Amino acid sequence: MSKKSVVVLGGGYAGLSSAIRLAQNERLTVHLVDQAPFFLNTIRLHKTIMLDLDALRVDHASLARKHGYEFHQSAIDLDRGLLRKWADDSSLPLESGERLDFDFLVLALGGRSIPIMRDETPGFVTLEHIKQRGARLVLEEMLSSGPNDADPARFVFVGAGATALQFVFELEPRIRAHNANAEIILVDIADQLLPGTPRPFHDYAVRMLKRSRIDYRPGTRFLGGDLSAVKLQQGDQPSYTLSAKGVFLFPGVHAHPFAIQTNVYGQLLLNEKTHENIYAAGDCARFDGPGTNAQTAQAAVRKGRRVATNIERAVEGKAPQRYTFKELGYFVSLGPWDGMGWLLVDFNVLTGVAAFAVKEAIELQFGLFLEGVDTYIEFL
Ligand SMILES: Cc1cc2nc3c(=O)[nH]c(=O)nc-3n(C[C@H](O)[C@H](O)[C@H](O)COP(=O)(O)OP(=O)(O)OC[C@H]3O[C@@H](n4cnc5c(N)ncnc54)[C@H](O)[C@@H]3O)c2cc1C
Repeated sequence: MSKKSVVVLGGGYAGLSSAIRLAQNERLTVHLVDQAPFFLNTIRLHKTIMLDLDALRVDHASLARKHGYEFHQSAIDLDRGLLRKWADDSSLPLESGERLDFDFLVLALGGRSIPIMRDETPGFVTLEHIKQRGARLVLEEMLSSGPNDADPARFVFVGAGATALQFVFELEPRIRAHNANAEIILVDIADQLLPGTPRPFHDYAVRMLKRSRIDYRPGTRFLGGDLSAVKLQQGDQPSYTLSAKGVFLFPGVHAHPFAIQTNVYGQLLLNEKTHENIYAAGDCARFDGPGTNAQTAQAAVRKGRRVATNIERAVEGKAPQRYTFKELGYFVSLGPWDGMGWLLVDFNVLTGVAAFAVKEAIELQFGLFLEGVDTYIEFL
């Protein structure tokens, strides 16, 4: 019997969850395509203030050998027109000119930082910079460059979502070790931290920000500028500027390159047509139905696994299964040994070391999966 070919585009949490699972199936040949030579364990990125970036990287070629699929390093441009062409041809062209013919395609290209500045501005740092160089290096460069005459040195964090909060609490002690009087400002356009999460999250995080002498300015819009004049505006008050030694831009993530709509099984919906052999998973995918579309690694893993199951079921001639995953908890760390989150039900809120410990365990879960130890619960 000839094997069916699966191409997985994107080797993050969703793509690897699909590829590793599918590679165990003897009826399938699996190809994983990613622009980078390594998987980056993004959910630990804030830890690169202490850890080398290399500690978060896992070589794709080794993973492919270990789990029995083929890896191709190639950056792939995607738009709706190209997607239609790949669907018509059942083939994905790589940068090298090689083509990967597929019976099934999984799109798992993740998300990108929402661009809030048109150009690169010296001293302004984004998540993409940290992904490339790690937080420690980025901060060291910021501390040793830029204007030194401001007293106190001022650091502005833009956006107070989970990513920004995790970074600000990791960076604060480092910044103050360098300059005890440094002023750290956290601005966010929303009036509440982490909207959509239980209210105690906001209250606890605000208390911790105060304790760390971080000046949290809710309802404040970032209007651009440069290090000599960072322009901010609170509500409809007149805008004001302040100088800064560094600016961290964490405005959130959007689907990359666009939100790919699927049905409840993860199958692509394009131009009012369902493509039963093309699936999407992870931050780039919007599934119909009751399952969560949260842009989290937890959801990316579950979407990737559901899609893998449905490809296997298609090969066996069985009906696909719906994606219904609801998050079982949500945790963020607030610096070394502190965190907050909820477990099982959203009023079961944990804070402090207990929450930090759960967050650590969640962070380690995917690493174990890559090692071949699968601790994800199957029926969810
Ligand atoms: C600091 C931080 C902390 C976080 N903490 C948590 C947490 O505690 N818990 C949680 O659940 N989530 C957390 N998240 C969110 C989580 O990282 C994302 O939801 C998750 O990475 C999404 O997985 P994905 O597979 O969709 O995308 P990704 O993991 O981003 O993978 C996408 C892959 O596609 C590849 N790719 C992209 N474009 C191309 C292209 N053109 N050609 C080829 N390949 C391409 C990329 O190289 C990448 O390997 C955190 C995020 C950050 C930034």
